[in-house]
Amino acid sequence: MAAPSTGALDAPHAIPLEVLVEKLRTDPAAGLDAGEAAARLVSHGPNQLETAQGPGLLRRVLAQLRDPLIYVLLAAGLVTLAFGGYVDAAVIGGVVLLNALIGYVQESRAVHALDALARLVPVEATVVRGGRGQRVPAEELVPGDIVELAGGDRVPADVRFAELHALEVDESALTGESVPVSKTVAVLPDDTIVADRTNTAYSGTVVTRGSARALVVATGAATQLGGIQRMVSGAGTVVTPLTRKLTGFSRQLTIGIVAVTVAAFTVGLVRGMSVAEIFTAAVALAVGAIPEGLPAAVTIVLAIGVVRMSRRGAIVRHLPAVETLGSTTVICTDKTGTLTRNRMTVVAIAAGGRVAPPQDAGLDPALRECLIAGVLCNDAEPEEGDPTERALLAAAAAAGLDVSALRATAPRTDVVPFEPERRLMTTVHGDRGYVKGAVEEVLALCREGLDTDGADRVVRTHHELAARGLRVLAFAWFSSAASPRPAFLGLQAMQDPPRPEAGEAVAACHEAGIDVKMITGDHPGTARAIASSVGLGAEPVVMTGAELDRVAGDRFDSEVARTQVFARVSPGQKLRLVQALQRRGEIVAMTGDGVNDAPALRRADIGVAMGRTGTDAARQAADMVLTDDDFASIAAAVREGRGVFDNLRKFIAWTLPANIGEGVVVLTAVLLGVALPIVPVQILWINMTTAVFLGLTLAFEPQEPNLMRRPPLSPRQPLFTAALLRRVVLLSILLVAAAFWAYRGELAAGAAIAEARTSAMNVFVGVQIAYLISCRSLNRLVVLAWPRHSGILALGIGATAALQLVLTYVPVMNTLFHTAPVGAGTWFRVLVAGAVTFVAVEADKVVWRG
Ligand code: ATP
Repeated sequence: MAAPSTGALDAPHAIPLEVLVEKLRTDPAAGLDAGEAAARLVSHGPNQLETAQGPGLLRRVLAQLRDPLIYVLLAAGLVTLAFGGYVDAAVIGGVVLLNALIGYVQESRAVHALDALARLVPVEATVVRGGRGQRVPAEELVPGDIVELAGGDRVPADVRFAELHALEVDESALTGESVPVSKTVAVLPDDTIVADRTNTAYSGTVVTRGSARALVVATGAATQLGGIQRMVSGAGTVVTPLTRKLTGFSRQLTIGIVAVTVAAFTVGLVRGMSVAEIFTAAVALAVGAIPEGLPAAVTIVLAIGVVRMSRRGAIVRHLPAVETLGSTTVICTDKTGTLTRNRMTVVAIAAGGRVAPPQDAGLDPALRECLIAGVLCNDAEPEEGDPTERALLAAAAAAGLDVSALRATAPRTDVVPFEPERRLMTTVHGDRGYVKGAVEEVLALCREGLDTDGADRVVRTHHELAARGLRVLAFAWFSSAASPRPAFLGLQAMQDPPRPEAGEAVAACHEAGIDVKMITGDHPGTARAIASSVGLGAEPVVMTGAELDRVAGDRFDSEVARTQVFARVSPGQKLRLVQALQRRGEIVAMTGDGVNDAPALRRADIGVAMGRTGTDAARQAADMVLTDDDFASIAAAVREGRGVFDNLRKFIAWTLPANIGEGVVVLTAVLLGVALPIVPVQILWINMTTAVFLGLTLAFEPQEPNLMRRPPLSPRQPLFTAALLRRVVLLSILLVAAAFWAYRGELAAGAAIAEARTSAMNVFVGVQIAYLISCRSLNRLVVLAWPRHSGILALGIGATAALQLVLTYVPVMNTLFHTAPVGAGTWFRVLVAGAVTFVAVEADKVVWRG
């Protein structure tokens, strides 16, 4: 790891710019040259934060022990030790440690997986090197680099401004203050606090508007963000709604176990059992009922889900999002690029009463003027830039115009860039100027130049074109010398075909009980046509932003709920839409790509940003980033989310009955006043091996075919439904019966007690294996459901069987776990108990609800 060398630059905000330039040995106009930049990269190290190491290994392993259930286990170990059960106490201690280690490894793996995913969303920066602007990965920046920043960019390093234009920066990532701060270039006093250093911007903050040229003063760990990270590192345990529910549950379970243990203790005393015997029973009870594998399993299942989603083009930035995705009830999606392909082609030009395709437009003077306006009032190059603007260039070329010659003869002298709120762009070229934008906006500017007839005709043509799903832009020109009032030129209409997979994905969402709404800046006519072509409804309900603003407060939420298409919506209104839907209890996923979308993305339950076209600002605010900007990826992610949640429920449904069943076995023995059929270390062995080799196979279960044919699961639904409780009871009965059947049966047949216990253990595991196979589906008959994808399951069962054989027949294991080799009778009992369990649980599925 390269040493962060800040040394010379203690307070860059207080150093005059020229001095700073000198200190950093750079050139404000040309930047560093490539060789120097490469050399500095070697000496300063890459511009990235160290991945959190956090506290040392020992402390993190020990942190895993901070769990009430583990306390009970440790107490059990101590009690055993006090009664001279040294081997048992050592085994319990070993298991606790092993458990902590497994938890630690799993958690770090999950955290690493997430880190790796975060890196899949690269941050780039525009840097000037050797006199040329170029895009480089932000990791390659070095102190002394000159970077250019614009609205929507993430500030890639700590920088000092050299020049700026109306620059505002959102520093909430650093200061918590959400109002953007205006920046300046003035030198500041040495003691200015971080939040007031207006001539500086810090890595990780986001430019909300304006533009700037700035000097990189610190990179990587030397940045403010790096400093903060060092202070808080290691704080990152993963908390999700589900883990929170589980933590609460684990607390209740502990209380329950302690209460039952005390009760068993009393009963034992009354029945005249020896104190040592009673303690052993109490320990067995506590140890058995604790689901040791649960917390680790949850993290693993979620992490597997995250990896699966990333393969489908959806990168989850926060683990809880995996769960939330599965409960999504409404998806609000952009149109352009998400439902459509964002491949624009001009198909019609309308001007001077004529409508023609581009290739026929070159000779008509009115159409030609309209095309010229499209070339000049345009920021794109033929191969680069906004697809809408590139389409205008392509249209002009198709009409036979020479784009670069036109631009060379009328160089641009001023510009007001396009903003989604105003929906207009203006350029000035000497004494002429051009405006392009949404038809309504351009018409409003030109009202004086057009008679009513003319305006009506434009509106009519516009509606006809929009109804075909075309995106229509209007053009006007003005003479900056004579009158700045523009005169109307004409329209250009472009096609942006829906993505082929969008219709299917929308249909899948509908079938899954998820409402899909389109939110677009485009015209309602265009939006309606695209909406019906992707299946948002044959006659979708359309509302514009302006109409939305006029809806009375008390009707607002219900109007929003019944509307499928929101057109001419500004980013600010997106936030109101999310809030309205959430007030109605919906779980909202919302897409966005611009800087102004960030508040809505943050507010939505699942903010979805575009990986290709989106700004850094949107990506930073989002819970999930789409690598391909495709609506179908959202639907796929929802599907994965549901799958993950399903597997979690299966794991819980499997693990709880097993644990509680073990507790009940012990309790029954105490109540009957007989010796324990399974002793504490044996119970621990069962718990540990089966949680890992049986339970975890459920994390890899394929999705059930009806996954997207059922309504979303409410996040308020309790984890433990009546059906699950019933299954816990059923399994407890089965486990108790099987264990005693084997234990008593073997004893009656003349076996020694160690042999009888080994038999009981094996039968117990047999029941768990049979139940596991049933748990592959909670409510559908397994025989019908899963012909394939059983590899991992088979592997897990094989491993468990092998471990049981080792436990039963290897002498060391016999000593450690008080087991003894058993005969064929035991294995016959295993098969019978397994078969009975399987049939009983499958029968229970017929009445399973929830
Ligand atoms: P979404 O991506 O949310 O579905 P959109 O991309 O269609 O919506 P915007 O890009 O905000 O929405 O565009 C809104 C309107 O602004 C367009 O319908 C068009 O009339 C106009 N417009 C779009 N791009 C430009 C541009 N480069 N110059 C001038 N006007 C534009």
